Amino acid sequence: MVMRVQVDLICIGSELLTGLVENTNAGYISRRLWSCGIPVREQRVVPDSIPHIAGTLRESLRCSEVAICIGGLGPTDDDLTREAVSELLERPLCLDREWLLHLEQIFAHRGRPMPPANRKQALVIAGSRLVNNPRGTAPGAIIPAGEQRWIILLPGPPAEMVPMFEEEILPFLEARCAKAKWRTKLVRTAGCGESELEDRIKKTVLPDGLSLSYVASGGEVLLQLKSCGEAASELLERAAARLRGDLGQYIYGEGEETLAGAVAALFTERRLTLALAESCSGGLLADRLTDIPGSSHFFKGSLVAYSNEAKQELLGIEAGLLEREGAVSEAVALSMARSARKKFNASMGAAITGIAGPESDLSGKPVGLVFIAAAGPSGERCRRLKLPGSRRAVKERAVQALLTMLWRMMHAEEQ
Ligand code: ATP
Repeated sequence: MVMRVQVDLICIGSELLTGLVENTNAGYISRRLWSCGIPVREQRVVPDSIPHIAGTLRESLRCSEVAICIGGLGPTDDDLTREAVSELLERPLCLDREWLLHLEQIFAHRGRPMPPANRKQALVIAGSRLVNNPRGTAPGAIIPAGEQRWIILLPGPPAEMVPMFEEEILPFLEARCAKAKWRTKLVRTAGCGESELEDRIKKTVLPDGLSLSYVASGGEVLLQLKSCGEAASELLERAAARLRGDLGQYIYGEGEETLAGAVAALFTERRLTLALAESCSGGLLADRLTDIPGSSHFFKGSLVAYSNEAKQELLGIEAGLLEREGAVSEAVALSMARSARKKFNASMGAAITGIAGPESDLSGKPVGLVFIAAAGPSGERCRRLKLPGSRRAVKERAVQALLTMLWRMMHAEEQ
């Protein structure tokens, strides 16, 4: 049946309210629903308490067709999600013999008896559809909750929740809103600030019938395009093509692509290699690059040369240069990039040196001062940055800036 499907997201767990566990599930599900054109009306976090869970669900189902509850399906006394739904819908919890058998088999496989508490995980709300959990003991459930209303239950651990959501819940929701659905496209840019980007986009004639919003996040600006109706997909393609035509020098990808992934793809395609010398970033850029499957095709390695001695001994930076210019300088950044290139025998070398804070070093240079440099076959580049934020933020922004520089150098050569 074709209908509107709006979702409320209810994350359950006192540990989320105390901040002991970061609520990554809400971000994940909202992002995935957005990319599939299914709107999320509200996200709530509630404690492990039957009145809280039932009250929030009652309110959600007044406004939205679907309420997704995550967490509170474990075996312990404080896992109360099933009980709250049973109370709200006035439907009993019944023992699912198949799931009980499955639980017993899981424990037999682990070579120990099933604790009596786990029996509770085989209790399901009468009339619900069980969602298999191949990675854990708590099944999920899709529970009809009135005229065009559903409650969906998923376990809290992301490693269990994500595959269940992808394999069962998303197809279930998509089947219910096939035609009424919004289509969305995420265009990813780097190297141009939000307001400058907006000015430039105003000059691009985008087709009518779509909305565009900007999200600045982690040193990038994401362009969210959205449209509805028969021609929505085609409109989005046309809009993305126009944006690529006018702003191609800033657009590195779409959807779930990452800037590190785009850099990796350019190096791999051209059979070029990269080596790094990292000071204040402490190996963070190497970490980003090695997250990408197949990075060994282009990434040779990184030397984390933090102290001046390490810069001299490992990278061969001249003591005189370090003394004259300071470790955080254009000359040292370039010298580090050249040295990384040479030591690893790579096509390109790149480097980061800076003052991450919270206090300055003996040179008295300001916190957040960072130099990034790259040296490759088509020349050298260096940028001086003044980055705001905490120690971690400075490191992350420096890494993002160097990735942007590498992408732009490689992309410019491609044109
Ligand atoms: P289990 O059977 O593992 O107990 P559960 O459905 O009962 O599953 P919870 O007990 O609520 O889940 O949470 C288990 C763990 O899952 C938490 O300790 C936490 O590590 C993780 N978790 C729960 N909710 C979230 C969330 N919203 N975002 C990220 N992680 C979460």
